[in-house]
Amino acid sequence: MPHRTIHLFRKGLRLHDNPTLLAALESSEVVYPVYILDRKFLMSAMNMGTLRWHFLLQSLEDLQRNLTKLGSCLLVIQGEYELVLRDHIKKWNITQVTLDAEIEPFYKEMERTIQVLGREMGFDVLSFRGHTPVYNTQILDMNGGTPPLTYKRFLHILSVLGDPDMPVRNLTTEDFQRCKPAPELHLAECYRVPLPEDLEIPRDSESPWRGGETEGLQRLEQHLKNQGWIANFTKPKTIPNSLLPSTTGLSPYFSLGCLSVRSFFYRLSNIYAQSKNHSLPPVSLQGQLLWREFFYTVASATPNFTKMAGNPICLQINWYQDAERLHKWRMAQTGFPWIDAIMTQLHQEGWIHHLARHAVACFLTRGDLWISWEEGMKVFEEMLLDADYSINAGNWMWLSASAFFHQYTRIFCPVRFGKRTDPEGQYIRKYLPVLTNFPSKYIYEPWTAPEEAQKQAGCIIGQDYPLPMLNHKEASDHNLQLMKQVREEQYGTAQLTRDDMDDPMEMGLKRERSEENSKKGKHARNREQT
Ligand code: FAD
Repeated sequence: MPHRTIHLFRKGLRLHDNPTLLAALESSEVVYPVYILDRKFLMSAMNMGTLRWHFLLQSLEDLQRNLTKLGSCLLVIQGEYELVLRDHIKKWNITQVTLDAEIEPFYKEMERTIQVLGREMGFDVLSFRGHTPVYNTQILDMNGGTPPLTYKRFLHILSVLGDPDMPVRNLTTEDFQRCKPAPELHLAECYRVPLPEDLEIPRDSESPWRGGETEGLQRLEQHLKNQGWIANFTKPKTIPNSLLPSTTGLSPYFSLGCLSVRSFFYRLSNIYAQSKNHSLPPVSLQGQLLWREFFYTVASATPNFTKMAGNPICLQINWYQDAERLHKWRMAQTGFPWIDAIMTQLHQEGWIHHLARHAVACFLTRGDLWISWEEGMKVFEEMLLDADYSINAGNWMWLSASAFFHQYTRIFCPVRFGKRTDPEGQYIRKYLPVLTNFPSKYIYEPWTAPEEAQKQAGCIIGQDYPLPMLNHKEASDHNLQLMKQVREEQYGTAQLTRDDMDDPMEMGLKRERSEENSKKGKHARNREQT
């Protein structure tokens, strides 16, 4: 008997490579494409800032438009998901609920609740993995029931398993013609995508990034035209302070599932197949997607992955609790223009380059402030358009050297780091207009400018822009000793995620440094400042 189905969108806000929606359409006489806007659930799962609310609403509007083009529609229903489902399952005589399987504990809990509801109310639940192409249960099985804790081991298992399944075909008008919701629903005002005003989300804080599958696909196609760039993509060579993204900038679209990672993976494979040479993981573009899969796999089977306490792979560190310093970092008031410019871009746009994330995360944690990575992760979770449960926590553990990363003697210098790729400080001038008129010589450390130069620049340091909140050299020397001690005391934990492969993002930097060192005839030092 064909089903009467609710297809529940959670992430996966797209019509291309959507295996669950395809299965819903193939097994049903009626399909109701539903998004439940459960604000209480969303806010308890992950703290969403205004930029991401806009991005989500734009993505829903786009999905609505694309479904309408295929003769269907999106029904957005506000309320607590369990109550909404109970209500509509009865109202529409539903016999099946389809939804993408996700790995986050809060989404798993939701799926369990729906399963229980299904048994109680007599409907089937069907779910497929759509957000992560790599089969992490198979990976866990092949690794003796536990997640591989290094990227190298993860890649090894993948090489045995082979490539992920191919993407499924695109949905067509014919798919929807066979089964569609009652026509009166198309016009129902109560099912429309709410406006930001309806949710009291201020309009003045929109990011230049526009949400939705259509925009995501346009950006993706644009990149794919540039086959040489794709084939030679080497992450450490991309520039953190370019004024336009020097990487793909696709992460916000992957994060809500507006784009299929699997489709991108195979499009990359096709380009690699046609290229004489191409870069490889960990630094290639496919390598970037595999980092994503790696963190998803580890997160799916590690208790308390987004916390330090109770997280078996994470070093237990007595971080400082300093609300005032945390606030300065968050509000771009550290007095280090490179750090403050990055935090300003994060506030204004919701996206920053990977190495820029390195810079501010290192500064907050092991580098300068010795504040917990969990605090930084929460700020990123609120501000980033691409905020992601597994990737965010995984990278914060990495940057704070709490797990995965072991070259902890390398500390990013908040003055020299940005200078290397943007000596004139154009990025700082864009995001911190108060410093625009400083000569390049002082733009990364304006407190060193003579009083006359500050007057000429129209910005007195300590008055119009803060003095640096600390002495980087003293703070980082001190923190390095603390970290050394922690790692000696918790040697066993540190070894769990230890990879003999170097940090991929440091490859380029290391080469530069050794060239510099050999030019100066210096011996390698124990402590390295990037
Ligand atoms: P590209 O370089 O073009 O890579 C393509 C895709 O590969 C990305 O869209 C992303 O899906 C994936 N990817 C790239 N780098 C990584 C990585 N290091 N780990 C996992 N996946 C990766 N990324 C998020 O998507 N969400 C987050 O919440 C997030 N938090 C981060 C927090 C910190 C402290 C750091 C250092 C990094 C974080 N990243 C996060 C990873 C990375 O910075 C972004 O994925 C990347 O910068 C997005 O830009 P892009 O799409 O241009 O990446």
